[in-house]
Amino acid sequence: MKAGSFQWHPARSADEAVALLAEYAPQDGRVIAGGQSLVPSMALRLAFPSHLIDINGVEEFARVRVEGGELVIGACVRHAAFHAPVEPGPLGRLLTQVVHNIAHYPIRQRGTFCGSLANADPASEWCLVAATLGARMVARSVRGERVIEASEWFQGIMTTALEEDELLAEVRLPLLPAGSRAGFYEFSRRAGDYALAMALVSWRDEGGTMREVRIGTGSVEVQPRRIAAAEALLEGRTATAESIGEAAAAVSAAVDPLEDFHTSAGYRRDLIGTAVRRAFAQAGG
Ligand SMILES: Cc1cc2nc3c(=O)[nH]c(=O)nc-3n(C[C@H](O)[C@H](O)[C@H](O)COP(=O)(O)OP(=O)(O)OC[C@H]3O[C@@H](n4cnc5c(N)ncnc54)[C@H](O)[C@@H]3O)c2cc1C
Repeated sequence: MKAGSFQWHPARSADEAVALLAEYAPQDGRVIAGGQSLVPSMALRLAFPSHLIDINGVEEFARVRVEGGELVIGACVRHAAFHAPVEPGPLGRLLTQVVHNIAHYPIRQRGTFCGSLANADPASEWCLVAATLGARMVARSVRGERVIEASEWFQGIMTTALEEDELLAEVRLPLLPAGSRAGFYEFSRRAGDYALAMALVSWRDEGGTMREVRIGTGSVEVQPRRIAAAEALLEGRTATAESIGEAAAAVSAAVDPLEDFHTSAGYRRDLIGTAVRRAFAQAGG
């Protein structure tokens, strides 16, 4: 199939992009970044935007930088930017590990980190990273700028706190302090497929004791989230097969899994427990 007709509006600056969005969003206008989710939806006639605001020509959106203890990722930073560490600490290494699970190489050359956050697919790896590590999303419109915490950002399947005239200008990820451990694991049927379950874990190692434990799940429920009950079980303990097994069981008990034609809720519940154990193993726990 082919996409329906639309008008294309290339923006050359962030101000121009938000002005175009203010004008065209009420007329079914949408932002286009990498197009790796939007264009297939248009081709399948699942989406019919009348206007596309193209942000690929906005130079400032292509930048990734470290500022004030955060990694700041602009709206057009591609997935492929993370193939090598973008910063020398544990966060840079974690993102490099995660990115290779996203789609296929050509898609990673076009698709963007912020586009994934705006799209909010429950199976998005970057959404899991943002939810688990506590990212802050910077939304910009002609009305000004506001910062949205990860805990407020995700509002269900492919639904976020972004208003229709707002552009996700950048995502701010807190750097992981030195001495942090972090691990990621996902299960999908074939390489490049969307995951059936995935887990991301991190903690600060204090002489063998786990501090500031974070355990996040993705692809299991309508949106990624941290599982506080499981995190509390590990706080102040050492990482052993027994303690991690308890946390994994707590995650399985806490989730309300999605079901589909291929995957029952019970299967996903078991799978996420395994994903949590493997994410800890991957982190060296
Ligand atoms: C075959 C295939 C396999 C894939 N597998 C995976 C996978 O395993 N994991 C995964 O996470 N993704 C996967 N994807 C999706 C891919 O990662 C996309 O790149 C990503 O979901 C969206 O980023 P994008 O830049 O392409 O956004 P686009 O397709 O351009 O836009 C997606 C949506 O977000 C909105 N949008 C984009 N950027 C902004 C912004 N800055 N502000 C406001 N709104 C914005 C658009 O209006 C649109 O509604 C796959 C895609 C394909 C085609």
